[in-house]
Amino acid sequence: DFAALEPHIDAQTMQIHHGKHHAAYVNNLNAALEKHPELQGKSAVELISNLAALPEGIRTAVRNNGGGHVNHTMFWEIMGPGKGGEPTGAIADALKGAFGSFDSFREQMNKGGVGRFGSGWVWLVNAGGTLQIESTANQDSPIMEGKHPILGIDVWEHAYYLKYQNRRPDYLVAWWHTINWDAVNARLKK
Ligand code: MN
Repeated sequence: DFAALEPHIDAQTMQIHHGKHHAAYVNNLNAALEKHPELQGKSAVELISNLAALPEGIRTAVRNNGGGHVNHTMFWEIMGPGKGGEPTGAIADALKGAFGSFDSFREQMNKGGVGRFGSGWVWLVNAGGTLQIESTANQDSPIMEGKHPILGIDVWEHAYYLKYQNRRPDYLVAWWHTINWDAVNARLKK
């Protein structure tokens, strides 16, 4: 239901974000792999885990569109209607341990999202057993650097512009009302 995240994220944004933007990443990734049947059996995560191993002619296309597919697949999974609130389960303890408190963690994530110039993402990653906040440009994924994204927030204008226009900070504040901590806990465990 495209309206499921109202009023925090509007239905039209979700419709275009999923139906046009994410769809374009999938279509463009498939097009890039068309002449490379040996790569078609690999998952998108496998493909972006080792970009250097790819033929040079499709490396950028896989980076942008494979990254776009993997990032958005995560994004839909970690949001839900009637969610938000304080973290529960193992992630609550992990965030307290790494950042002092959930409020401090959220503040640092929002700061990272606002500070990303242009298009990109802000992430909570597991980097060799340590939880860290980082941001990436475009559709780059922490997976490309050997890190494991626990959660990420899309700060491309296409994620918020229809409702929030230039007010990325307001979108970030609203976004936390959609976070599905059960899904985040599942990713942490994995
Ligand atoms: Mn997006």
